[in-house]
Amino acid sequence: MASRTLTAQRQRALEILVRLKRLYPEAPCTLDYTTPVQLMVATILSAQCTDERVNKVTPALFERFPDAPALAAAELPEIESLIRSTGFYRNKAKNIQAACRLIMVEYGGEVPSSMEELLKLPGVARKTANVVLAHAYNIHAGVTVDTHVKRLSNRLGLTQHADPIRIERDLMQLLPQPDWENWSIRLIYHGRAVCNARNPACDRCLLADLCPSADPTKVVAAVVSDVAIAPSLEVLSLE
Ligand code: SF4
Repeated sequence: MASRTLTAQRQRALEILVRLKRLYPEAPCTLDYTTPVQLMVATILSAQCTDERVNKVTPALFERFPDAPALAAAELPEIESLIRSTGFYRNKAKNIQAACRLIMVEYGGEVPSSMEELLKLPGVARKTANVVLAHAYNIHAGVTVDTHVKRLSNRLGLTQHADPIRIERDLMQLLPQPDWENWSIRLIYHGRAVCNARNPACDRCLLADLCPSADPTKVVAAVVSDVAIAPSLEVLSLE
């Protein structure tokens, strides 16, 4: 990216970030957990599954197996039956147990706090590692790219890539490091509330003037009728 283009893109990304912070001042992680191990497990479970569904299964899972030693020693079928409704449960159970066993053997029962070490754990790719590092350890090593971040970053013209690794690289170039994780969370909120996959509500999107994908017919209608509305966290529903 030429330096002038990069500077302009950075300015636009920053303006989008400022507006997202205004729209969603509170941006907590939507997965329920109390320890880094539980956050890692919940994030593994969230693959191809909603956070809402994950939060329904983790109370019973964490009551029965609250930590890495318990999950490492568990009977695999018991983990499977507790997480079955999150989908791909056999693979997820196998990965969760293998990750916890490695955590016991290599890291004294604690989830490691570096990207390099996290990526050695079965079932942990960059998305899970970024979530764990940011929310459990306040370390911003990268930008979490899920389906919403992927879709919105493309629509907003901040990347042209489909591959999450390349999208993450583009976003890391554009955004201040301390904001990497809260960018993702807020973009996820915006993806759920306004810019959904099938029918983005450009008519009530407060990013429309910064978005190259804004539907002009909807935006014009919004300006004429002055109906642009800031969504609030109350109207957000977990997909
Ligand atoms: S203007 Fe439309 S496409 Fe762009 S971010 Fe908003 S809802 Fe999505």
